[in-house]
Amino acid sequence: MSVSAVVHEAARSFDIEGDLVSIERYGSGHINDSYCAAFDRGGATTRFLMQRINHRIFKQPLLLMENIHRVTTHVAEQLSDDPDSDRRVLTLIPDRDGLLCHVDREGEFWRAYKFIERAHTYDTIQSPAQAFQAAKAFGQFQRMLVTLPAPRLHETIPDFHNTPKRLEAFLRALGADPCNRAAEARDEIAYALEYQALASILTDADLPERTIHADTKINNVLLDDASGEGLCVIDLDTVMPGLSLHDFGDMVRTATSPAAEDELNLSKVRMQMPMFEALVRGYLGSTADFLSAGEKTLLVDAGKLITYEQALRFLTDFILGDPYYKIAREKHNLDRTRTQIALLKSINEQEDAMQRFVDRIAASPS
Ligand code: ADP
Ligand code: MG
Ligand code: MG
Repeated sequence: MSVSAVVHEAARSFDIEGDLVSIERYGSGHINDSYCAAFDRGGATTRFLMQRINHRIFKQPLLLMENIHRVTTHVAEQLSDDPDSDRRVLTLIPDRDGLLCHVDREGEFWRAYKFIERAHTYDTIQSPAQAFQAAKAFGQFQRMLVTLPAPRLHETIPDFHNTPKRLEAFLRALGADPCNRAAEARDEIAYALEYQALASILTDADLPERTIHADTKINNVLLDDASGEGLCVIDLDTVMPGLSLHDFGDMVRTATSPAAEDELNLSKVRMQMPMFEALVRGYLGSTADFLSAGEKTLLVDAGKLITYEQALRFLTDFILGDPYYKIAREKHNLDRTRTQIALLKSINEQEDAMQRFVDRIAASPS
């Protein structure tokens, strides 16, 4: 599919020498529109990854770009001794006016990164080895950001992981029931109400605020083609202040079950212990030196909390008539709620074994 003149114009607006030789849609991200642009300079081709920022989700693109610039600059400084440093962190390319993003004539915001070659993302985890690599990379990312200088980053989506607020929003939706859908979700609502004490387990635990990634899916880590190593954490739109455990919990939620988020056959949804063990080893291997004892003991609870939070979000959206999550079929958000609840049940069943494993690794990470 050819891309429009506006996209070509955007590509030429960045501070890149040479001639634009090709530009095409790239990747399978669901949020931004990504393009790969190739420029030729004296016979050598260099690629760039350009993204049109989704400003329906991210209302303040300039603040978001300020966060990304601060974070990538700081990480690059931490990596200055690494010979492969320019593949281990995203590098922003400013536009010709020196700005961090370009606004096109349709009012859309664009940014450009150096393209990281010889590495790929995977939409689903293939093995515990990949889970280990992803968790290690996200852990290293958090670790490098412990020393991020003040001020606090902007909250690109306020109250993103404020689970007590998510619970309040669910209770409000349930009270209003504007589409008369609550009756169809009776069992799921009962479950959400029964487990509502979960919502505050992290907020009540007095944990330190940290800089987190906040979208720790496997497809947000580039894995090196040659070694399979977790090379570079990408997709930094949601980088913001939060709890380290929000990131780990979302890894548990998104990486331990082999089933899709909207799987109808709930017997396929389960927390797989080998994946969990790989996540714990990878994550604690790169974070054990700065995490507090409290953070380390709550890794399993974090998985439960984030899975519960996601169940609440899908269920709230279903009750309200699907205003937030796009649906492709009737009751799609109810199906998504069901997979989260199934995963939560699976975690609950294996909780003791999971906690024993965490305690063992936390005592001697290696
Ligand atoms: P989304 O928010 O839409 O998920 P991402 O920032 O994750 O967007 O980017 C979408 C895809 O583009 C990624 O899965 C990855 O494959 C690819 N990608 C992103 N940044 C780079 C980069 N700097 N170099 C190479 N590929 C990249
Ligand atoms: Mg992504
Ligand atoms: Mg994203």
